[in-house]
Amino acid sequence: MRLGCVRCGSAYPPDFKMFKCPRCGGLLDVVYDELEWSPRGRGVWRYEGMLPLKRREAVTIMEGGTPLVESTKYPNAYIKFEGANPTGSFKDRGMTVGVSVALKAGARAVIVASTGNTASSMSAYASRGRMAPIIVVPKGKIARGKLFQSFLHGAHVIEIDGYFDEALRLVMEHGVEAAYPLNSFNPWRLEGQKTIAFEIYEEVGCPDNVVVPVGNGGNIAAIWKGFKELAQLGLCRGTPRMIGVQAEGAAPLARAWELGVEEPLWVDDPNTVATAIRIGRPVNWPKTLRAVRESGGAFVTVSDGEILKAQAEMAQREGIGAEPAGAAAYAALRKVRLGGTTVAVVTGHALKDPDIVDIRTHYVDSADKFLRLLSTIIPGT
Ligand SMILES: *Cc1c(COP(=O)(O)O)cnc(C)c1O
Ligand SMILES: [Zn+2]
Repeated sequence: MRLGCVRCGSAYPPDFKMFKCPRCGGLLDVVYDELEWSPRGRGVWRYEGMLPLKRREAVTIMEGGTPLVESTKYPNAYIKFEGANPTGSFKDRGMTVGVSVALKAGARAVIVASTGNTASSMSAYASRGRMAPIIVVPKGKIARGKLFQSFLHGAHVIEIDGYFDEALRLVMEHGVEAAYPLNSFNPWRLEGQKTIAFEIYEEVGCPDNVVVPVGNGGNIAAIWKGFKELAQLGLCRGTPRMIGVQAEGAAPLARAWELGVEEPLWVDDPNTVATAIRIGRPVNWPKTLRAVRESGGAFVTVSDGEILKAQAEMAQREGIGAEPAGAAAYAALRKVRLGGTTVAVVTGHALKDPDIVDIRTHYVDSADKFLRLLSTIIPGT
C-alpha cells in the first residue's frame, strides 16, 4: 500500500497524517499493491480486503449495506438509498475508516468543516472512538437536523460567518496541527466511500450510469475509484459513466464542464436549497473532473425548483424520503435521458432538513367535516 499524488504521480509509504503531496501540494490517493475481493459479513467492512485497515481495528456502527431500490417510475433505474446509514448519509462509510485511522494515528481530537452531514457523522464515530469531535460550520446555513445530531453526539460546535468554503480554509490552515482532520481531502476517509460501488456491483453488476450529487466532489471520485478497482480485478467488464449533479446556484464544476475549461469556475456566493452541496470551491476538483472525464460521464445542473419537485416525487412515487442534495440525483434522472441501467445515489435522509418544505394539513372540528373531507379525498365515499 502507498499514497500516490494525483497531480505529479509521486508515491509515498502509507502515512495516516499525510494529506497532500509534499512535493507539489496535490491530492493523494490510496494505492494498493494487492487487492483482495473476498466479501464477508455486512456493511463497509464486508470489503476488508479492499480497505486499508482490518475489520478488528474499526470503529464501526455497521454502516453501509444500504437498500438498492428499483424505481417504480423510471425504467432501468435504481435508487441507492444512502439515507439509510446510521447517521443518515453516506458520510458514515467514510467516517468508519477515517475515524479508525485517526485512532491508529494517536489522535485525541478530530476536526471537520461541514455543511452538516460530515459533522453529524464524524461526531458519532469520534465519540464512539473516544476522541473529541470539533466541528466548524457556517452560521445559519446548516440544516437543523444535522446541527442537532452533532450536538447530541457531543460535538464542540464552532460557528463562523461566511460559507462552508471559509470554514474549510480555517480547518486546513489552522486546525490540522491540533486535531486530526476528516474532510474529504483526507484520502483514507474516501476509501470507505468507495464501497458504494462494491454494493452496487454485488446487486446489479456494473451499471451504465451512476448519478452522484457533487459538492466537494470526494464521493463521486471515491465511487469511481471503487469501480476502477473492480475492473482491475476483472470483475467489471465495462465501467459506468459517472454523472455529477450540481445545483444551478453552486455549480463550479458543471459550469467549467459546459465551457470545456480545465479548471473549476469558483463561485463566491454559492446558493441552493440543497445545503449539502452548497459549495463554491470544491477541494477535490482534480479528482472529480478526472472521474467524470475518465468514465466518459458528464455534469448536469438542476435548479432548486427541480430539486424540490424531485424530492416530492421520489417521496410520493418511490416511498423514499431524501434531503434536497440527495433528491438532486433523482432530479437528474427526471431531467436527462441516459440510456442503459442507471443508479442514482440518493445521499441523505429527508429528516435531516425538515424546514425546507411548508407542511400543509387539514383541520376538522366535527365528525361532519371529517366525513365531508374524506369524500373529497376519496371521491365516491
Ligand atoms: C456530503 C454530501 C454530498 C456531497 O458529497 P461530496 O463528496 O462533497 O461531493 C451530497 N449529498 C449529501 C447528502 C451530502 O451529505
Ligand atoms: Zn505531487
